[in-house]
Amino acid sequence: MSVVTRFAPSPTGRLHAGNLRTALFNWCLARGTGGRFLLRAEDTDAAREGEGDLERQLADLAWLGLDWDAGPDRDGVGGPFRQSERGEIYREYLGRLAETGHAYTCYRTDAELRARRDELRRQGLPPRYDREWAALPQAEILRRREAGQMPAIRFTAPTTGEVAWHDLVRGPRALPASEISDFVLARSGGMPGFLFANALDDALMGVTHVLRGEDHLVNTARQLAILRALELPAPRYGHMPLLAGPDGVKLSKRSGATSAGEFRAAGVLPLALANTLARLGHPWEAHGLMSMHELAQGFDPAQLTTSGQRFDPAHVGHWQRLALDALDDAALASWAGPEAMAAVPPEQREAFLAAVCHNVESPAEVAAWAQLLFGATEVEPWPDTGAPPAVFAAALAAFDAGATDHKALAGPVREATGASGKHFFKPLRMALTGRAEGPELGTLFAVMPREVIRARLARHAQS
Ligand code: GLU
Repeated sequence: MSVVTRFAPSPTGRLHAGNLRTALFNWCLARGTGGRFLLRAEDTDAAREGEGDLERQLADLAWLGLDWDAGPDRDGVGGPFRQSERGEIYREYLGRLAETGHAYTCYRTDAELRARRDELRRQGLPPRYDREWAALPQAEILRRREAGQMPAIRFTAPTTGEVAWHDLVRGPRALPASEISDFVLARSGGMPGFLFANALDDALMGVTHVLRGEDHLVNTARQLAILRALELPAPRYGHMPLLAGPDGVKLSKRSGATSAGEFRAAGVLPLALANTLARLGHPWEAHGLMSMHELAQGFDPAQLTTSGQRFDPAHVGHWQRLALDALDDAALASWAGPEAMAAVPPEQREAFLAAVCHNVESPAEVAAWAQLLFGATEVEPWPDTGAPPAVFAAALAAFDAGATDHKALAGPVREATGASGKHFFKPLRMALTGRAEGPELGTLFAVMPREVIRARLARHAQS
């Protein structure tokens, strides 16, 4: 049997790290087994969808390096892939459930249901939906219908036995039928609910494996019951722990920048992000940067862990460094972008990038180095080098005498002042860049304009 997986986001807002990891793992499972990967927009709640949200989500998934065989932008077998375009299909299957006694219309209002729950609670009973109470006399149903009230459609849940499945991540799971109450399949007004539409779509689209967050664990028994009632094949489900932020709290805006848009804007390389996400909850033999192909080949859902995982945006930096090191000159230049290097003369850009590429993680840092090495002559704020002016006076003299690299300055400086080794090179670096760390001094000397080097040495020779 060929594997078919899918990612089924609600198109509201941007995808965050947790969504992206779910999408990545489903993609890996499909691509690693030669299967198919589908995208489905769960957009029945049009009110919550923002202008362009779906397009941005698709663009973010493509940016991450995922490709799909069918989706909202590419029709295929089992489509359309937007729930908002599947109304006919939902009506047909709701009809089937009603005909076979697996669904019924319910005219109780939300307010009545709430009141009933409160009453049960007061009596010390579990606040469950009860079918007998919800059934209204025929005359009352007619009265409500005439008054224009729309019924909800509820599932006739099984009352005996259990719903069992083998979770791809958690192993055998079961829920007694008595814990499944008659949940809503379609809200009053006919809009299909998540449980019904999501399960039906998976079955009709031929989805064989669903990896999703453990917040859906309670839904799985209900969805399996729906598919059983429809006599449709169910996918195998696997539930992964949700990602928490560095503080251990479920990912939220406060966990720092974790939306795809923020990663992209910060210049994070997609492969760096994919490697970061792939390591949250799945072991890999390789410790280094893996290509998308290697991730797909090495992925095994049985190896997904059940322990909670923390996503720390700071960890992306490690993979970003490795991913940057893997870029060739042209890719590095296009990553940095011409704007970041505006201060660098075009003929110097390649050498400049080669000099700073091991010291940057973002185009913003490239821009800062470009500004520092080619922009204003003075370093702001004026750095304290820790060495006396005499050291720089000697260095300046040697520089003016034609020295072309930092090592050629060292001899004359030692002779004139006794300063040598790190007592010269550290102050020299501070004077030239205002920073204690950075590209090798030799490389800096090779790319910095001579007049800038001279001006900085001269400034420190005076003070
Ligand atoms: N639209 C659902 C969500 O975003 C899909 C859940 C699933 O993968 O089944 O949570």
